[in-house]
Amino acid sequence: MIYKHRTKPQELVVFEILNKRNELSSKDKQYYLYQKKGYEGELLFDSLTEKLQCDCLILNDLLLEVNNTTFQIDTLILIEGKIRTFEVKYYEGDYYYEATKLYKKPKHEVSNPIIQLNRCESLLSQLLRTHGCHLPIEASVVFNHPTFTLYQAPLNLQAILPTQLNNYMRALDTTPSKINEKQRRIADLLVSLHITKSPYSKVPSYRYGDLRKGITCKMCDSFSISIEGRNCKCEKCGHKELVADAVLRTVHEFTTLFPDQKITTNVVFEWCGGNPTKRKIQRILTSNFKSVGVRQWTYYE
Ligand SMILES: [Zn+2]
Repeated sequence: MIYKHRTKPQELVVFEILNKRNELSSKDKQYYLYQKKGYEGELLFDSLTEKLQCDCLILNDLLLEVNNTTFQIDTLILIEGKIRTFEVKYYEGDYYYEATKLYKKPKHEVSNPIIQLNRCESLLSQLLRTHGCHLPIEASVVFNHPTFTLYQAPLNLQAILPTQLNNYMRALDTTPSKINEKQRRIADLLVSLHITKSPYSKVPSYRYGDLRKGITCKMCDSFSISIEGRNCKCEKCGHKELVADAVLRTVHEFTTLFPDQKITTNVVFEWCGGNPTKRKIQRILTSNFKSVGVRQWTYYE
């Protein structure tokens, strides 16, 4: 049973908007693509954990703190009187293990996720102890990209490889398990301790004037949108969307980037690139937001 859902990290949401409306530096772009891929891997792992039928509690994406140190757990499952934590790595291609170090072939050292895993395990254990909870923790790195290969993996490596994943999940699902009150309390505790605002954000600074204005296609991000009656049509992929939905989606992008700015008809008109008309925008805003003030001072919230 999913006890805490995963939502797209706010940082990634902002990066997605900036990526299409601004030119990201190559360093920022690389970071963005790395985060995006990591999130894709997490969703792929979720598609397996959400199929579990056994009595367990699944907590996705926890950000916790103990002794002024924050740490993140991609997936935590309370099962069979134990806590299992998973660090998902969506690495592609050939890697090898050598003297506790991880390399991408031919010879590029990457940070070893096992070290990160052990750090998180120890911090989680400390956190639970400070709240008087004692449950054994079993931590694993999940390598779930189908093309991932790991050469020279030690036999006792705390990792689940792509070829082992299905069997691992099947074994987990057939584990006799009964969630009791104490375990449910631990799940509640972890959810209540979850930090919603990540301190890790690496979003670059941006200015309104530098961002490309206009409605983009929901499917392919193209700016080539034509409006025909109540519909928007993408000239690139042919996707159709109601104008009202497209405008609201575009307003949402604006408020994500500029949460302190007031939404007015003029602001939205400019942000949408001058199409649809102000009258149409005003109608859409009036029926979807609460209007505050009168005439030219009206804004929406
Ligand atoms: Zn499109």
